[in-house]
Amino acid sequence: MSEPQYEAPDYEAVIIGAGVCGLYQMHRLQEMGMRATVLEAAGDLGGTWRQNRYPGARFDSESVSYGYSFSKDLLAEWNWSERFAGRAETERYLHHVADRFDLRLHIQFNRTVTAATWDEARHRWSVTLADGETLTTRYLLTAIGMLSTPTLPRYKGVDSFEGLSFHTYHAPAEPVDYTGKRVAVIGTGATGVQVISELADNVGDLTVFQRRPNWCAPLHNAPIGPEEMATLKASYDEIFAACRESGGGFIHQPDHRKTFEVPQVERLAFWEKLYATPGFAKWVGNFGDVSFDAAANAEYSAFIAGKIRQRVKDPVLAEKLIPTDHGFGTRRVPLETRYYEAYNRDTVHLVDVNETPIVEITPTGVKTSDKDYAFDIIIYATGFDAITGAFDRIAFTGVGGQTLKDKWADIPATAYGVMTHGFPNLVTLAGPQSASVASNFPRAIEDIVDWWSGFLADLRARGLTRVEAKQATEDAWVSHLQAITDSLLLSKAKSWFTGYNGNLDRAYKNRYLIYVGGGPRYREKLGREVDTGYAGFDLA
Ligand code: NAP
Repeated sequence: MSEPQYEAPDYEAVIIGAGVCGLYQMHRLQEMGMRATVLEAAGDLGGTWRQNRYPGARFDSESVSYGYSFSKDLLAEWNWSERFAGRAETERYLHHVADRFDLRLHIQFNRTVTAATWDEARHRWSVTLADGETLTTRYLLTAIGMLSTPTLPRYKGVDSFEGLSFHTYHAPAEPVDYTGKRVAVIGTGATGVQVISELADNVGDLTVFQRRPNWCAPLHNAPIGPEEMATLKASYDEIFAACRESGGGFIHQPDHRKTFEVPQVERLAFWEKLYATPGFAKWVGNFGDVSFDAAANAEYSAFIAGKIRQRVKDPVLAEKLIPTDHGFGTRRVPLETRYYEAYNRDTVHLVDVNETPIVEITPTGVKTSDKDYAFDIIIYATGFDAITGAFDRIAFTGVGGQTLKDKWADIPATAYGVMTHGFPNLVTLAGPQSASVASNFPRAIEDIVDWWSGFLADLRARGLTRVEAKQATEDAWVSHLQAITDSLLLSKAKSWFTGYNGNLDRAYKNRYLIYVGGGPRYREKLGREVDTGYAGFDLA
């Protein structure tokens, strides 16, 4: 019996999302001469760096370690103005990349994908857009962001507030004049900490509603002058080599000594040095055992608590800002600029919502169990339905009518975070369980996109049109990931790393969302697939 002949799909590849990941993937597909397009829901490119227009948004990866590394010309021509660039500069950078590599030609804006259904007979995805149009593609590549589904708190009256209010992800594009305003910030994660630090000096009065404090540490930002930039440009090979060696893709390397093997005086001197070092040194450049040994972690947490006590003048307030439910680094560490000093101002107030819970948002402000607060502006820095939230918004239907939402209800099981059994030709770039989540994002993204692009070239060369992760590959990946995660203290902390979000209906489960095995091990696993001719996948 002869095979039925089908017309070609509209595209060989569709990428959903024109952020850091989607842009690079499009560049690679363009180089390969593929018939591909990017569908972007927003009116322009940039993803997270277009969206998060809240005051204070900036990198806490070193700028020179965050840019793409794939083009020497791009590295040579782009100058970063700050050690940790602000949001607007990063958005400009992404526009520059898109223009320089002619990527805009391939991006369709205001195109929201609502559903995607696998067609087993034709080996293709049928993609439905919000406007009702449908198109077909051989491969469907998601670059939809890990933190792109914001969650508002479920307080009564959120819609009733008559002043300006917004979630940080939806901060107004036009400048907001905060001068003299009474501002509330709800949430003290990495975003809230940036907002509070930025606004403390620039508003009339600032009230912070805190549920749980985080362990914050100084960013130490500084301008980069032309001479320093020239030196950094000459060091790009070393910078990216250092990122490749480190677990999280940062320039900082861990210290392999054990905390208590190092004499106390030397240990404290080392920690002082880390605290004075810019960026994530105090997290990922520490003694490795701080991330898995409870006693080592407690010792370092006590050191950081001491710093908070030194920086906050009011001792009662200082205690409220010191976490007691988790140790340092077991949740995402917010990096800050004079965050703790903000609380020394008479105009900055902290409300602990555990002591005086928020009862409702009113037309004029926030009502807690003991007081009515009046505000001009309320900023919700209340986080995201992280990592799987963006997937849940698209109705993916795979082999036999199974939906991705159902399959991932308990755990977003994948092979290497890039494919999931039952959903052939769906490539979850920056997906759950990939190395991108716990990493300096572009570093992991270049690895994943390069690996997948190589795989795709191989499939095309062999005339294959279907690829699916084997169930056994997925099972092995999940076991590997669980073993690594469970060995770390972060597995016990409630945060978006482990699927916690108090603003959603779903029960909190440790969902093994992120791969914390480190970039080198991740690349080794992906490389093994290449060496075995992609033995972990069914090809047809
Ligand atoms: P987040 O870390 O999830 O923090 C959300 C905050 O809102 C938490 O303090 C949370 O309290 C609080 N919250 C949530 N619902 C609340 C409610 N109903 N009432 C009171 N408080 C509530 O979210 P995020 O700060 O937006 O950060 C998310 C991630 O974005 C970061 O971890 C980071 O990866 C990324 N980010 C990166 C940068 C950067 O690169 N520079 C900057 C900002 C953010 P609980 O802690 O009690 O849950």
